[in-house]
Amino acid sequence: MGVVTTVRALRARLDAWRAARLSIGFAPTMGALHDGHLSLVKQARSLADRTIVSIFVNPKQFAAHEDLASYPRDEARDLELLRAAGCHLAYCPAPEEMYPEGFQTAVTVEKLSAGLCGVSRPHFFGGVATVVLKLLNQCAPDVAVFGEKDFQQLRVIQQMARDLDLKTKIVGAPILREADGLALSSRNAYLAPEERRVAGRLNGVIADVAAALAKGAPVAAALEEGRAALGAAGFNSIDYLEIRSEAELSPLGPGPVGKTPARVFVAVTLGRTRLIDNWKIGA
Ligand code: AMP
Repeated sequence: MGVVTTVRALRARLDAWRAARLSIGFAPTMGALHDGHLSLVKQARSLADRTIVSIFVNPKQFAAHEDLASYPRDEARDLELLRAAGCHLAYCPAPEEMYPEGFQTAVTVEKLSAGLCGVSRPHFFGGVATVVLKLLNQCAPDVAVFGEKDFQQLRVIQQMARDLDLKTKIVGAPILREADGLALSSRNAYLAPEERRVAGRLNGVIADVAAALAKGAPVAAALEEGRAALGAAGFNSIDYLEIRSEAELSPLGPGPVGKTPARVFVAVTLGRTRLIDNWKIGA
């Protein structure tokens, strides 16, 4: 596996692959890799001849009060995992490579960024869209894989790709979970043992809400039960629990969901850790 840190070195590799008519799959990450990330690598490998993974903790998607400085970083371990997963090239740019002196452009995907995580993290999706557009321009992949764990992010990127006529095909990948159902996340490392125990119940609550909705329960009642269940499970700081359509992320309710493809979306804070998850209704 090659490792490059500059756009120039990246392009030299890409030129050789393109000359050999090899297709390119790409998975952007912020490192601290886990099996969820490695499942993206596997999917990218199945869709293209060569796979690139970027590791870049993007300062633009963190607000001043968030965890940029303490975000877990272990590049040596990450590179080992990528090597073992059959990744062909790791791209690990420094912040100055991505945002040189004088950088001033921002990408905004307006409507899809507004609700859910966009309410408490108004800076977030602009930062994500900007860095992902840069990464897609730098790597020029045929296909790029994003996890459904961050479903709103996936939809924002898909919309950006459509609006800006990107050639890269954006593909979603299913959520990988721990044995108790907790969605894998680099931030799970922050959880103290008692918080980790509580965190394992998040997926069960939203799965139950999704099951009730699939049976025809009205949205308002299912949400009320879901909020009570979150409280009983030990989540006392709920950012949101919402039912939204998959396509436009429009809020649904208060009646039954019907046939609209939709998901239960949740965000909670446990101690210093923000957890998000989602569950497809009728899956
Ligand atoms: P991150 O490093 O957290 O920015 O995530 C990089 C990519 O991995 C994003 O496309 C995430 O949606 C995806 N990802 C993170 N956690 C999981 C998971 N548990 N299952 C599947 N994909 C994931």
